[in-house]
Amino acid sequence: TVITRFAPSPTGMLHIGGARTALFNYLFARHNQGKFLLRIEDTDKARSTQAAVDAILDGMAWLGLEHDGDIYYQSERAPRHAEVAEALVEKGAAFRCYVTPEDLQARRDEGEQVRAAAKAEDLSDEERTALKKKAEALLAPFRSPYRDGGDPPAANAPYTIRLRAPDTGDIAVSDKVQGDVRVRASEIDDLILLRADGSPTYMLAVVVDDHDMGVTHVVRGDDHLRNTFRQIPIYEAMAWTVPEFAHVPMIHGDDGAKLSKRHGALSTTAYRDMGYLPEAVAAYLLRLGWSHGDQEIFTREEAISVFSLEAINKAPARLDLNKLNDVNAFFIRQADTDRLFDLLHPWLDQAAGHSLGADVLDRIHAALPHMKDRGSTLPELAESFRFFWTANADDLNKKARKALSGDNLLRLGNIREAIANIPNWGDTALQQALESFCSAHELSFGQVGPPIRAALTGGLPAPDLAPVMAWLGREETLARIDFHLA
Ligand code: GLU
Repeated sequence: TVITRFAPSPTGMLHIGGARTALFNYLFARHNQGKFLLRIEDTDKARSTQAAVDAILDGMAWLGLEHDGDIYYQSERAPRHAEVAEALVEKGAAFRCYVTPEDLQARRDEGEQVRAAAKAEDLSDEERTALKKKAEALLAPFRSPYRDGGDPPAANAPYTIRLRAPDTGDIAVSDKVQGDVRVRASEIDDLILLRADGSPTYMLAVVVDDHDMGVTHVVRGDDHLRNTFRQIPIYEAMAWTVPEFAHVPMIHGDDGAKLSKRHGALSTTAYRDMGYLPEAVAAYLLRLGWSHGDQEIFTREEAISVFSLEAINKAPARLDLNKLNDVNAFFIRQADTDRLFDLLHPWLDQAAGHSLGADVLDRIHAALPHMKDRGSTLPELAESFRFFWTANADDLNKKARKALSGDNLLRLGNIREAIANIPNWGDTALQQALESFCSAHELSFGQVGPPIRAALTGGLPAPDLAPVMAWLGREETLARIDFHLA
């Protein structure tokens, strides 16, 4: 069975890049009737917070990315990580290294100095070549002097456990997205598995956890591609099956630059706070870097049925808010009315500047199925309902004021008479009444519409007038007209 995982470090919000990674892992697991696991990589205690864990869970729940089983906390598994490091020493694949971080820093500093010295003008060719070579050796990937044993420099000297990196050959990955990638083994450090304080490094922890969790497919950002070359030797040393990898390109802003704060919202739930629906954000993130023919919008079920890792694009994707708006508009139109109303309610109150009363809310609820196409975000949609609560607007715009003057006002009075007492106050009856009025007075709809619209909506854009009158109700409609006739 396929097992995927999302492995965020809880150091901040759920970034939209991370959300997309989670989504891909989720879809791939569901497509294969596999499992989608969640592992919180909280080994960096100084930077990990409970608030960040909560933010990640909140973002995933909002997007409907339900993980299977319990959450794994990497920090709880430190004893297991140490056990594997010791096992690797036992096997001869890793060793105790007494080189301290200070020693290493000194080596690096010396390398930089020699490199600088090699640039001096008064050097012979031989001297320059020799210095360059020396610098190169000092700055090359670290090969520990203890890789083949060696005694501690002092009794109880602190040590790290390092992997003996392979010396020759290539380390190759056949990545589902990046294709065949390889590096020379000599470019890889003798990397630290266990620090001097006994804590595991990320490189060790991620491999042990992925193995123990039975992860078959590692789908993550391509910023981790280089780490993969360090992780594969650990799998091989333990004789563990190396999982399949899919390294997903980063998301860029609309200007093509790597996504950063200046491109706007980065956290997933910021999109909730801007009035986007979760299924729209998920569908948008899916298309961002993945495609299936030229289909733009996928429901969750469709996405699960057609998702594949091979169809992830190799090039970085660009964030495009206009597209997100289109997708959101689509899902607003699709949304179940009761649910949409609940989502819209806070935005309505906010647009009104106060808590709307039950009567207004009932009218809005009744009108909602016919108004779903009036906004591409929830605040935009809420705004289109403004005329429901702004009765007898005194601050009519110029056009509306003109529509309510002179002959128009007389006409409005006549219309009032024609509709005031119709028996079945409703869309159909009102439409009929307006039409009979037009033909009786030899007027076009274009002549009677503007004063009614101005009186009922203050000139705000609104759908057809008959439904507007029906939603407002007889009393409210006549009151709004009377206000202008008075
Ligand atoms: N914790 C890593 C991160 O947040 C992810 C590691 C992985 O997916 O292998 O970048």
